[in-house]
Amino acid sequence: MVKEQIKPMTSRERVLAGLRREPVDRTPVCNPTSVATVELMDLVDAHFPEANRNPEMMARLAATGYTEIGFDSIMPVFSIIQESSALGCKMQWEQKDNWPTVRMREPIWRDVEDVVIPNDFLTHPDTACVIECIKILKKEYGDDVAIIGKTMGPWTLGYHCFGVEPFLLMSLDDPGKTKLALERMKEATIQFGMAQIEAGADALTVPDHATGDLVSGEYYDRYLKDMHAEFVDLLPVPLILHICGRTVDRMNSIAETGIAAFHFDSKNKPQESMDIIEDRISLVGNINNPETLYAKGPDAVRDEVCANLDAGVHMVGPECAIPLQTAIENLTAIPNAVKEWHSRRESH
Ligand SMILES: [Zn+2]
Repeated sequence: MVKEQIKPMTSRERVLAGLRREPVDRTPVCNPTSVATVELMDLVDAHFPEANRNPEMMARLAATGYTEIGFDSIMPVFSIIQESSALGCKMQWEQKDNWPTVRMREPIWRDVEDVVIPNDFLTHPDTACVIECIKILKKEYGDDVAIIGKTMGPWTLGYHCFGVEPFLLMSLDDPGKTKLALERMKEATIQFGMAQIEAGADALTVPDHATGDLVSGEYYDRYLKDMHAEFVDLLPVPLILHICGRTVDRMNSIAETGIAAFHFDSKNKPQESMDIIEDRISLVGNINNPETLYAKGPDAVRDEVCANLDAGVHMVGPECAIPLQTAIENLTAIPNAVKEWHSRRESH
């Protein structure tokens, strides 16, 4: 909802209003997932893999989302592996131009009995780094910018700790066992989320990769809907659920969880998605990564931003963590297009 007479807001106020579907001075530009690029790493001398493991470097790189590309949020958790590393997964940290990954072919758990959250889960260097980084960002930018943390949902942790195939096979063969494993893994989601809230996070992204191409909407209802609703009750900040791929078959269920926002993929059209959620939750995202932000130019970015704003999408940003080779001018095109769209409307 945009009312032109609203007084100018800080970036933080704008994002928090967007998450509550309250009036905003202009549509917030929000990144629930990473906008780090190699170019930005060079600019502030904070490179992968160190920027995933050192809190000062992590904060420095994350802040460029606000200082260099003009987004309204800062989201420092670039990867999806911080807590999996703390759970004991075997890691591949890679180099500056590649994402760190979990070696899922060497899973650490085989059965539900194996699922144990270690006592040092929050003091492990790779989770502690995120908590420390959020404290730094909160102190430096917390009055002006929305600081968004990230805690992985249990479905994603299942892929990392059991391996994708074994975990999906278990979900087919033994729903009871799968539910029990998810119940145990969700403790990691809650603990890490609470620690980031205490460190100063204004909101949390919860990626849970029950993605359109691997898992059906019916699976979402069976395994995750109630658990995501429980996160809303247990984690006392606005939550942004992130699931990649085509997800219109589960968007109604997602809206019923009471989650603040859904971070949606460009495989879902803005208008069809808005029609499903019916103002029960906010939508954020939708600018295509591989084709538009990575491979096209600012004009194509502007067209997608406008399609989202025309549909009434509450907050605009990339659909998922952007490719590390994305050009900065394509990222700055997002806030520029939002401002142009609003000034065009005012002058009419
Ligand atoms: Zn994604």
